[in-house]
Amino acid sequence: MPRTDVALADPRLAAAAARLGPGLVREAVAGAQARARAGELPPERVLDAAVAALPAAVTTLRPVLNATGVVLHTNLGRAPLSPAAVDAVTGAAGYVDVEYDVATGSRARRGRGTLAALRAAVPDAEDVLVVNNGAAALVLATTALAAGKEVVVSRGEMVEIGDGFRLPDLIASTGARLREVGTTNRTHLADYADALGPATGCVLKVHPSNFRVEGFTSSVHVAELARLGAPVVVDVGSGLLGPHPLLPDEPDARTALRDGATVVTASGDKLLGGPQAGLVLGRGDAVDRLRRHPLARAVRVDKLTLAALEATLRGPVPPILTALTADAERLRARCVLLADLVGGAVVPSEGAVGGGGAPGQGLPGWAVALPAELAGPLRTGEPCVVGRVERDRLLLDLRCVPEDDDERLAAAVRACTS
Ligand SMILES: *Cc1c(COP(=O)(O)O)cnc(C)c1O
Repeated sequence: MPRTDVALADPRLAAAAARLGPGLVREAVAGAQARARAGELPPERVLDAAVAALPAAVTTLRPVLNATGVVLHTNLGRAPLSPAAVDAVTGAAGYVDVEYDVATGSRARRGRGTLAALRAAVPDAEDVLVVNNGAAALVLATTALAAGKEVVVSRGEMVEIGDGFRLPDLIASTGARLREVGTTNRTHLADYADALGPATGCVLKVHPSNFRVEGFTSSVHVAELARLGAPVVVDVGSGLLGPHPLLPDEPDARTALRDGATVVTASGDKLLGGPQAGLVLGRGDAVDRLRRHPLARAVRVDKLTLAALEATLRGPVPPILTALTADAERLRARCVLLADLVGGAVVPSEGAVGGGGAPGQGLPGWAVALPAELAGPLRTGEPCVVGRVERDRLLLDLRCVPEDDDERLAAAVRACTS
């Protein structure tokens, strides 16, 4: 049995220790030694087995080829970054002038380039702020504008945003009181007007982004709420900065601001296609109040996010927009090529926006249908491929797979079938 120090001197394992750190290499060696002790491995094979057991990377996060057809898949990290945003993250990984002016050698406003890019992207906003995520933006807005007071919100917008997190609980945690108005399906302007008074901190309008209520419904438009006189916070959710022709029912920041919203909050990693972030856009005095609130420091965004967000705002079209607008005929042609290589049938496939966006809106596309039993091996193979199991078939929908990865995807399927 090779001793641990001898094993670690093996050139392959020494090189791995430089790349992965000594801890992971020691674990691989200890695992191989344990197998040899248990008689599962001849002692002279311990070094080779340790090399084979080395992880591919230091992080346990595995890159995934998303063949689900769901563009913003929450379990798969929502929006993938553009190559430009990835470069920006790498560039910001070391020391960086995030809060420093190299011309004068003195302190500068944190993330000023990113904030300027966001303001340029939404000229209707007098001022902007970036925080950790959409939920943080909403908590900061309601805390700064309504702590100790009431947040007036429609019963139709008391949503759960996912994984058990409920908007009413989130707002209650800020020290504001929720004042519910209207009913689940219908809320009128008079419901809001009757509730407003000296105790009002703000009116909140939340986009019910992950479900749809159909039938006998009505809600009140932002423009009407703005005329009531209280500050209006609009949580648009998705991070759409302007209207998108493909998503007519999805609210956007620019329209909400033009309609008179005091503050708009949104995510940076849904339909904006950037890193996880929370965007705050709105009237100068209101955004300033949020910026100066002590809670702002607790939801401050880091330099990597600032870098990726700026690159998303200023740079090339992010991958989620490419996936969202993918041409169905092109998708079908790619599926035909894939089916030629791996077998299976080319079938229509309804993709989705996902991530709590545009519920009920299908994205017509195509997929290769394979036996459902392949789903598990494909998930645990290299590269990891996640498809969609539907009616006992595994569908590989190419909408969210970069075209350059089609061959890797085919190779992954062949590795599981041969
Ligand atoms: C997604 C969403 C949030 C939460 O945003 P995160 O970036 O996930 O924190 C809040 N409100 C609405 C309407 C959303 O769609």
